Amino acid sequence: MSEITELLRPGLRGRTPYGAPQLDVDVQLNTNESSYPVPPEVVEAILAELADELGTLNRYPDREFTALRKALGDYLHDRSGVSLRPEQLWAGNGSNEVLSHLVQAFGGPERTALGFTPAYSMHPIIAETLGTTWVDGQRDRASFDLTVESAIEQAKGVDPHLVFLCSPNNPTGTALPFDVVEAMLEAAPRAIVVVDEAYAEFARPGTPTALSLLERHPRLVVTRTMSKAFALAGGRLGYLAADPEVIDALRLVRLPYHLSAPTQTIARVALEHADRLLETVEAIKDQRDRLVTELTALGLRPVPSDANFVLFGGLADAAATWQALLDRGVLVRDVGIPHHLRVTAGTPEETTRFLTALAELVPTHATTKETP
Ligand SMILES: *Cc1c(COP(=O)(O)O)cnc(C)c1O
Repeated sequence: MSEITELLRPGLRGRTPYGAPQLDVDVQLNTNESSYPVPPEVVEAILAELADELGTLNRYPDREFTALRKALGDYLHDRSGVSLRPEQLWAGNGSNEVLSHLVQAFGGPERTALGFTPAYSMHPIIAETLGTTWVDGQRDRASFDLTVESAIEQAKGVDPHLVFLCSPNNPTGTALPFDVVEAMLEAAPRAIVVVDEAYAEFARPGTPTALSLLERHPRLVVTRTMSKAFALAGGRLGYLAADPEVIDALRLVRLPYHLSAPTQTIARVALEHADRLLETVEAIKDQRDRLVTELTALGLRPVPSDANFVLFGGLADAAATWQALLDRGVLVRDVGIPHHLRVTAGTPEETTRFLTALAELVPTHATTKETP
């Protein structure tokens, strides 16, 4: 062990940093970003407001990001019909930061967090690096479904302080049965229950949002992000909605002025142009549905998706297929589930590039064996 490794907190020794490979490849379908650039008129609007503000960067930004919280509330109301007061909203540099605020406030040493694998891999990483014990709950091995009964049984066995649900779920793509959320609040009576809705804007029609349950459940937290549907991954803005007392708890752990003035402005102006920015969502959903249809036609096994990506099984060796696609200029994600890969729905041209490359590989890369 090196001298520095010996100095490292024992809980961090031997860990590897999170990160999908960042490779310079033609077709990048590995991190669920939007393939569509920010439209020029939105760029113009952001530049105009930044031009007025850059001269005041000598001052700290609004610590409470008041205008941004109001804009987030207006957006959520427009989309979901749920009214949220600014006191119920919180934001950070990506939803990963608001998730880490939640764990800092409600997790930590001597506390336990429960999630249902496979789900978003940052949930256990954030929990464990902040000293929280992570319990890997399970989904059905073949369908990746989580039933209400199974969720209740697992929660009762653990009695966690924090629960992470992800709906639509990354990396599997499917939304949770809606009843799981309230069942979890009941089965885990001392837990803050987090529903990560990073992909909510892509859900199939009729998929409810947990925002509608906030009124009745002070321990419920719903997280969202501008990184996916808003095509603003580089802007780093994630947010959550919760009871005002939960938000007050997050103020105890956030660093002062954590949201820079330009970040606040970029996100606020983007929200003012929500309709324009979200115009590509339908086109992306079309490509997602096309992926499911065509992957099935290729004899592979896609999982139904409410998100902007598709997980598919039926591969003999996922790592070998990942590399062979990369050799053809297409980068997808190996999420570590045997026989499966995950692909983001991009533009029609990118989807075609992916499907064409995969079709060449299927004769040697697909497996006919039943694999979970
Ligand atoms: C992409 C993603 C996020 C987004 O993280 P940001 O920090 O907002 O970019 C959060 N949760 C899930 C499940 C995701 O897939």
